[in-house]
Amino acid sequence: MLEPNDRRLQQRDYVLRLARAMAAQLDLERLLNLVIAQAVNLLVGNYGLIALCNAAGHLEIRAAFNLPLSSWAAFEDLMGALDRYEPHAPEVSMEIRKVAATLQLPLRQAVALPLLVGEQQVGMLLIFRAALNVGFTADDRQFLGAFADFAAIAVHNAQLYEAANAERSRLDTIIEQSADGMMMLDARWRITRFNAAMEQLTGWPREEAIGRPCAEVLAIHNDRGTNLCLTACPLQAFPLDSHPAIEGWVAHRDGHEVYVGLSYSPTRDAAGRFVGAIGNVRDLTKQKREEELQATFISVMSHELKTPVSIIKGYASTLSRTDVSLDAATQHELLTGIEEEADRLANLIADLLEVSRIQAGGLRIHPTEIDAADIAAQVVSALAATTDERFEFQLRFEHAMPAVLADAERLRMVFSNLISNAIKYSPDGGTIRVGGWHEGAHVLIYVSDEGIGIAADEIPRLFSRFYRVDNRLARETQGSGLGLYLTKAIIEAHGGRIWVDSSIGKGSRFTFTLPVAPPRLPEATTLPSQDHP
Ligand code: ADP
Repeated sequence: MLEPNDRRLQQRDYVLRLARAMAAQLDLERLLNLVIAQAVNLLVGNYGLIALCNAAGHLEIRAAFNLPLSSWAAFEDLMGALDRYEPHAPEVSMEIRKVAATLQLPLRQAVALPLLVGEQQVGMLLIFRAALNVGFTADDRQFLGAFADFAAIAVHNAQLYEAANAERSRLDTIIEQSADGMMMLDARWRITRFNAAMEQLTGWPREEAIGRPCAEVLAIHNDRGTNLCLTACPLQAFPLDSHPAIEGWVAHRDGHEVYVGLSYSPTRDAAGRFVGAIGNVRDLTKQKREEELQATFISVMSHELKTPVSIIKGYASTLSRTDVSLDAATQHELLTGIEEEADRLANLIADLLEVSRIQAGGLRIHPTEIDAADIAAQVVSALAATTDERFEFQLRFEHAMPAVLADAERLRMVFSNLISNAIKYSPDGGTIRVGGWHEGAHVLIYVSDEGIGIAADEIPRLFSRFYRVDNRLARETQGSGLGLYLTKAIIEAHGGRIWVDSSIGKGSRFTFTLPVAPPRLPEATTLPSQDHP
C-alpha cells in the first residue's frame, strides 16, 4: 500500500508525463480524446465528457469517454446549466440526475472542472463514477485541477493551431483561385509557390517551376529581347521601392508571347534583411496590343490622310497659279489627280466609319438574293481598267452557281478589297483569278493572285485592324491595314468565313463562304376548291 505522499508524487509524475504528451498533440480532436480518456483514468471514473466554449461562449461537447455520440444530445440542458451556474450548484446536480434518468446510466458521482487559460475559460471537464459509495474527494478535485490546467493550455494551443491552419488554407484558396498569377520567392529569388493562373500564363507546371530562379521561369524581356529579370530585376532596387514593378514579355512554353505586369511585395525579417517576396503577375497582352494598335492607327492615319491631302493641295496650287499657263491636257490630268485623291480620302473615311460602326456593336447588313458572280465581274472590269498589260483577269464561276443571300454593296466592297490587294501585292503582274462553286448551303468564292505571297506566321494577324505586313512593297504601297479587317467583318456578318492560303513568292488565294439564298417558293397557284369543283 502506497503512502499518500508517494501516491501524490507518483500522480504528479504521471501528470507531468501526460502534460508533455498533450503539449505535443496539435490535432485538436485527438488531443480532446486523449485528455478525456486520461482524466477518467486518473480519477478512476467510468464516464467522461469534455466540452469547449463555442464562438457564442456556450459549452459544446467535443469529446467523450464511454458515452456514444448518440447520447450527447441528452447533455444539452446540463451544458446550459454549466453555462449559467457554478459546477457544484444544485441546478447542475439536478441536470446530471435528469441525464442519468434519460440515458439510464449510473452517473452517480460527478466532478466538473472548468478548463482555464489565465482568466479565460476554454471549456469544461466532467467525470462521472458509477459506484454509489465512492465519492470524489477534495484530493481528487485538486488533482484533476492540476491536470485540467495543463489540459487547458494544450487545448488552447491546439485551437490556435487549428485556427492558424484554417487561415492558412483560406489564404491558400485565395492564392490558388486568384485570377492573377501569384508566386512566392525565397531570399535567393527561387520560386516557392506558383498558383494555377501562373501555370496558365507561362505554361510551366508548378512541379517544374518551384525551386527554379524566377529569372529562368519568367525571363521577362523587352521588345528587343533583353532579359529584364537579369538586367533590371525590380527586386534589386529594393528597399528603395516598397512595391517594385516591371512590365515586359514572357514567352509561354507553347511559344506565344504574353505581355505581363509584375509587381512584388518584398518581405524582410526583423533585422531588415530580404527574406522573400510575393509576386503578382497580370496578363496585360490585350492592353498592350491595344496600345500598339493606337500607335499604328495614328501613324497609318496620319500618313494615309496626309498623302492625298498634300497631293490635292499641290495640284490645286499649280492649277491656281496665274504666272504659268497650263495646256488643257495638263489641266485635265491635274484635275483627274485631284478627283482620284479626293476619292481615296472619301474611301478612307468611309472605311474608318465602318470600323467604328463594327466596334460600336456590329455591322448591319441588308441581304437580298443576288448573283455573286455578276458583282465579281463588275468589280473585275472596273479594276482591270486601272492596270496594265502585265495583268490577266479570269472569272471562273461554276455554271450552276446559285444566288446568294448577301448585301450587294458590302459584297462589292469585299471583291474590291480582295482584287485591289491582289493587284497591289503583285508587283510583276500575273493572272488574277476570281471564281466560285457551291457546296451544300454555301458558296465558296476565291480571289487568287501570283504576287509576293504572305509568310505563314503573318497570317494569324492579317485580318486585324491596321495590320500591315512589314515588307518593302507594303511600305511602298498605300494602305491603311483596314481592308482585310473590314472584309472579314462583312463576311462574318453574313454568317460566312474567310481564310487565306499563300506561299511566299508564289501568290495568295483568299477564299470566303456565303450562304446560298433559300429556294424560291413556287409561284402561287389557285387550288381547285373542294366545295365548288
Ligand atoms: P492594306 O491597306 O495594307 O492593303 P489590308 O487589310 O487589305 O490592308 O491587308 C493587310 C496586309 O495584308 C497588307 O498590308 C499586305 O501586307 C497583306 N496582303 C493583303 N492581301 C495580300 C495579297 N493578295 N498578297 C500579299 N499580301 C497581301
